[in-house]
Amino acid sequence: MDLKGKKVLVVGLGKSGLAAALFLRRRGAQVTVSDVRSAEALAKDIPALLDAGIMVEAGGHGLLTFRRQDLIVVSPGVPLDTPELAQVKSFGLPVIGELELAARFLKGKMLAITGSNGKTTTTALLGEILEAAGLPTLVGGNIGVPVVALIDDSTDETWSVLEVSSFQLESTELFRPAIAVILNITPDHLDRHGSFENYALAKERIFAAQTAEDCLVLNADNPPTAAAAARSAAKVYWFSVEHPVEQGAWLQHGSVVYRPAADAPIENIMLLSKIPLKGAHNVENVLAAVCAARLAGAPAEAIAKAIEDFRAVEHRLEYVATLNGVEFYNDSKATNVDATAKAISAFPPGIHLILGGKDKGSDYTQLNQLLRERVNAVYTIGSAAAKIEAHLRGVITIHSCGTLEKAVNAAATAARPGEVVLLAPACSSFDQFESYEHRGRVFKELVNECRSWKV
Ligand code: ADP
Repeated sequence: MDLKGKKVLVVGLGKSGLAAALFLRRRGAQVTVSDVRSAEALAKDIPALLDAGIMVEAGGHGLLTFRRQDLIVVSPGVPLDTPELAQVKSFGLPVIGELELAARFLKGKMLAITGSNGKTTTTALLGEILEAAGLPTLVGGNIGVPVVALIDDSTDETWSVLEVSSFQLESTELFRPAIAVILNITPDHLDRHGSFENYALAKERIFAAQTAEDCLVLNADNPPTAAAAARSAAKVYWFSVEHPVEQGAWLQHGSVVYRPAADAPIENIMLLSKIPLKGAHNVENVLAAVCAARLAGAPAEAIAKAIEDFRAVEHRLEYVATLNGVEFYNDSKATNVDATAKAISAFPPGIHLILGGKDKGSDYTQLNQLLRERVNAVYTIGSAAAKIEAHLRGVITIHSCGTLEKAVNAAATAARPGEVVLLAPACSSFDQFESYEHRGRVFKELVNECRSWKV
């Protein structure tokens, strides 16, 4: 792809939009950035863009700006059915995402991970494993480092371990990872994708350009993920916490095992008890990582060592403190119902659960059984509170708290020694916080403030 002199529009000035614009400019393109946010809201990034010779359109998209281009690079936060995008697409203008753009320039091989939950954990873990195995490794994507930022460091030997979201996958065309992993497909982002089917189809784009030379790792225990095998041209490998698989990773007699092919001997990777992460869901992530890492050529010993040394990524079922015998856990990244269900399942009965935030079109009644079995009380916060309360009425004691501060105080007051206060809100954070990270940090500060009166 030759960018020299090409007119390129970057739509949406997030982290990846900014990185893409600067990359395109360095490669000689005439770049414009367009964002619906005001110039004031974009103020911190505008000087760097102008200095690089990039034009900036703030406060809305001009249709003319869109029509004048040779290529449009869209940020993952911008829906593809935005009227301006839909219109230029109908004129045949190429519209791609930052992931697609980067993949066309990245050297070496890509190992890409998607799924509704567990992407960041598995991506970080795979990065550590490949590094421990001595393979030249770069880590990026949705995990926080834009993929274009990896290009300059990549060589023909590099493994780029990429966390890719459904939003990023929606705008791919030729993106072809040598190894693709789908961890699970459970309802999320239905507000943006419209239906579960559309959401699942976006995830399946991870293997759309793969051929029989590539590998696809799938979760045998999650039917929507397993169903993808029938539509894939790649070699399919499986992971399962429930039963042996023909080729892939599973659990056997308290150990994680791997078999590269149906007729190959079974390899013992490590004892299940040596996995340091909490929760059965993390065993799934470990199995997926073991399978992908073996396919990338990492030896069993390096895999086992890296897993044993791995610690939970911040805001993912992160241990915060034990105050007066009560444990506090921050799972602010549990922004959908399935992640919350997995978090509840990671603890014995005696949970005080903080739920709420901004609703994403979720069905909270799916938590009913787990709530009855393990949760003492629910403390609601944020704009989704009324909907959550309506869904859970009669199932569980609900305290309507409104704010995280009130919820932490109420839960910490009610919890008895041996019980757990868990923030796993099943909602996004944008009604009351800047991000899930912000919400998680505030939670940890509030827990720390409880120290004085709880100890
Ligand atoms: P993602 O990047 O896909 O959002 P994370 O690793 O950041 O994934 O985890 C997001 C949330 O999902 C956290 O609450 C975490 O505890 C939970 N989680 C992690 N792995 C899984 C899994 N395999 N299945 C369900 N929930 C998971």
